[in-house]
Amino acid sequence: MPEPTNNTYDVVIVGSGFAGMYMLHKSRQMGFTAHVFERASDVGGTWYWNRYPGARCDVPSMEYSYQFDGDLQQEWEWTEKYSGQPEILRYASHVADRFDLRRDITFETSVTSAVYQESTDRWTVSTDEGATVTAQFLVMATGCLSSENTPSFAGMDNFEGPIYHTGKWPHEGVDFTGKRVAVIGTGSSGIQAIPIIADEAQHTTIFQRTANYSIPARNEPLEPEVQAEIKSNYAEFRAANSLQNGGFGSRIRRGEIAALEADEEERYLEFERRWDEGGFGFLSAYTDHLLSQESNDTAAEFVRRKIAGIVVDPNTAALLSPTQVLGCKRLCLDTGYFETFNRPNIDLVDVSEHPVSMTASGVASNGREVDVDCIVLATGFDAMTGTLLRIDIRGRDGLTIQDKWSAGPRTYLGLQIPGFPNLFTISGPGSPSVLTNMIVSIEQHVDWIADCMDHLRSNNRTTIEATVEAEDEWVDHVNTVADFTLFPSCNSWYLGANVPGKTRVFMPLIGYPPYVEKCNEVVANGYEGFVLT
Ligand code: NAP
Repeated sequence: MPEPTNNTYDVVIVGSGFAGMYMLHKSRQMGFTAHVFERASDVGGTWYWNRYPGARCDVPSMEYSYQFDGDLQQEWEWTEKYSGQPEILRYASHVADRFDLRRDITFETSVTSAVYQESTDRWTVSTDEGATVTAQFLVMATGCLSSENTPSFAGMDNFEGPIYHTGKWPHEGVDFTGKRVAVIGTGSSGIQAIPIIADEAQHTTIFQRTANYSIPARNEPLEPEVQAEIKSNYAEFRAANSLQNGGFGSRIRRGEIAALEADEEERYLEFERRWDEGGFGFLSAYTDHLLSQESNDTAAEFVRRKIAGIVVDPNTAALLSPTQVLGCKRLCLDTGYFETFNRPNIDLVDVSEHPVSMTASGVASNGREVDVDCIVLATGFDAMTGTLLRIDIRGRDGLTIQDKWSAGPRTYLGLQIPGFPNLFTISGPGSPSVLTNMIVSIEQHVDWIADCMDHLRSNNRTTIEATVEAEDEWVDHVNTVADFTLFPSCNSWYLGANVPGKTRVFMPLIGYPPYVEKCNEVVANGYEGFVLT
């Protein structure tokens, strides 16, 4: 395993998912010395850890991939419209080989602390393996969904069988054949895993706290002609995607009117077409689905009717029917999720009113106990801030990130935090990140950070630090935009509402591509909102 060869670097990067890998490559390309620390034993980030059955991306493969290197994007062949986890991990590994990244990555090593030394304007970074290095720049490429959320269920220690978390799945896989399985959680991970687990297991019981909207993914093999056609003009395709809301989907038909401007039958046909096509295009039928409750109700009612049409038992169908705003929690894409509830070997238990607890032999709620052999927790993540707050990060005057963010995360552009000079977050809270095609956002952030480091070097500057005024204005902006929408209306992980005790703050910025324009404008105005020394 490559240990750091020096103890001083221009850049230390934490994490070797898609953000850390590109940050390393870009830093090297620009002549900076760089080193990465990664807690996993290989690259891939979220795709390294989330190996649960059915794990699959919900952004099409031809878009969920790097565009920084023309040859790379031409040579890699995707096999499916939406890639499964194994294929994405193979791609990450291919990128690491192709650019010889692993020689500058120390694996199986977690960064435990990062302390800013004011006397030298450098970061001292320490790891759980005892390494200590210093760097001018510290880039946190730690991912948005990288700390799994394991609720402390009463009696959890008593359960005698194995408990698996979808976000930390055993590498050797899990054989559910002949097993009685409990699954807790019906977000994107649960909805992808449940049909496959139920197909394999003797019996599966789903413990559902909140029913979720899901649209068929309609995944299919990626025809070579389709791939070749996109590759024949890849740059143009990428450029068109970057101009779309969320940085993806230039081939999605975007509705141009509000939902209530269409009459009922027209609306029904439009939703029906989009349901048949599958994917996130469903959300683009009308312009105002996340702005107007009435508009949202029309789409929500359509999905509820679909559920009622698919699920044979009316009580189960009713339990599976969500009532919150559609899209307020991330919309799920599935393959046969609702159909799975017609199997004879699956049960659905509503735990919305009564918490789940565990016993030696099973899972209980509201006095009903179900004996199982193993439990799958599809309970999500301490998103966007969880991983950063687990590291002892201390900036100017010993300010800790935990203190700085005690009332929720505060950043300027989701890139920097006042008090923490030369520390950058890739796809941090306050940036559009999880509301976009992550790889597009990552590349935009890495390019911005690398240009910024180069600007400092060329102008004989040592540090860059966001001002408190810029941060205040930015946080206000992020909140104002969110409050203009229906996003804050439900208990989503975007708000941190899934983790008990976490401050309720809407963390991502809604608005890509305007965000990119803002980042470019900040640079054009001489790094407006930052102080360079
Ligand atoms: P999630 O969306 O946060 O879902 C977690 C589930 O666990 C929810 O149903 C939640 O219920 C339930 N839960 C949490 N704590 C519980 C408790 N104490 N008792 C009972 N139920 C509990 O997590 P996720 O499914 O892992 O997905 C997270 C995000 O990862 C997604 O939104 C998406 O951005 C990303 N992801 C993407 C894909 C993809 O590309 N297709 C796949 C997987 C994940 P409540 O809703 O009531 O909180």
